[in-house]
Amino acid sequence: VAKTDHLGDHGYVRIEGLRKEFDGFVAVDDVSLSIRQGEIFALLGASGCGKSTLLRMLAGFERPTAGTMSIDGQPMDGLPPFQRPTNMMFQSYALFPHMTVEQNVAFGLQQEKLAKAEVARRVEEMLTLVQMSKLAKRKPHQLSGGQQQRVALARSLAKGPKLLLLDEPMGALDKKLRSQMQLELANIIEKQGVTCVMVTHDQEEAMTMAHRIAIMDAGRIRQVGSPDEVYEQPNSRFTAGFIGSVNLLEGKIGEDETDHITIIAPDINGSIYVGHGVSGYEGQEVALALRPEKIRISRDEPAQPHNKIKGTIEDIAYFGSHSVYHVTLPSGKKLLVNAINDRRWASEHFTWNDEAWLSWGENEGVVLSS
Ligand code: ATP
Repeated sequence: VAKTDHLGDHGYVRIEGLRKEFDGFVAVDDVSLSIRQGEIFALLGASGCGKSTLLRMLAGFERPTAGTMSIDGQPMDGLPPFQRPTNMMFQSYALFPHMTVEQNVAFGLQQEKLAKAEVARRVEEMLTLVQMSKLAKRKPHQLSGGQQQRVALARSLAKGPKLLLLDEPMGALDKKLRSQMQLELANIIEKQGVTCVMVTHDQEEAMTMAHRIAIMDAGRIRQVGSPDEVYEQPNSRFTAGFIGSVNLLEGKIGEDETDHITIIAPDINGSIYVGHGVSGYEGQEVALALRPEKIRISRDEPAQPHNKIKGTIEDIAYFGSHSVYHVTLPSGKKLLVNAINDRRWASEHFTWNDEAWLSWGENEGVVLSS
């Protein structure tokens, strides 16, 4: 029975004040997280940020310097890996090469000393889940990378862990197979309803697979949110820059107004008008984080009174469905603009060195103070 408290379901996996030091070096620094039952939760960050160490502490491979963890209300402190309701799938799935697909999936169950019929039933159920029943008698070397991956997942799920841990799950696959397997794996995990924490340095992978993402940097969590929250509502310049591309227009908050603020922004040689609920004090240093697709590009001057500036197109990258324009402003600031290449609402045709108007709505972007 799941522990219920004021967070309800939110605290299925609970991490509080978790810290890990290696000879005085702080790899994980006071991390607290609540993960919901059935959630796919991604730890995302650059190499060395501490995400694997955090995952290894959940699995019990690494002992925390401080802090606590619980799963479904059960404290994990001091429990060795084999006594935890967890299972870790590694980057190199480590399938036993001499065993068939079904023997690989059965292996962990046999260690548990389950009845033969029960093992067979679980193996069949898992192979059906990952759509590998037809290849049950094959050996790993007779499988494609994606098929091996599915077998590894079946093996990790066979014992019915409360928490599935994935360490760079697509690490061994090439790029095309990766993006195909991301959705496939996420679907299988969701179908099974198992709670999952995954580690990845690939933002696309985190955005595709996870319900929520924790962005890590130097051992700390910088932001937690759903893929659209971390993209649309970054809480700092760091997270804004980490997910996708972003334009940061730096400036200072101008005179206080009731229904909007202005940002005096040397980048645009003028003021940016922000109409949505922002708070700040006059003179505060802030940046408007503006995603490239929020900026319109046009040949004619837009009718709107604010938030427009003329620039010069330095570069155009064509991606088929859209193009990315690199536009230099008179201040020298460079902005990225994404425009859809679709005849129904196509951007006008531009070429190198063209002058173009850039504009954005007063409700676009996020004002960041850190
Ligand atoms: P990657 O994506 O490269 O695996 P990561 O974010 O998973 O990186 P960790 O493996 O958690 O990072 O490592 C975090 C930091 O802790 C790194 O600076 C690493 O060098 C250090 N570290 C990890 N394990 C040990 C160890 N056993 N002894 C000493 N330092 C370690």
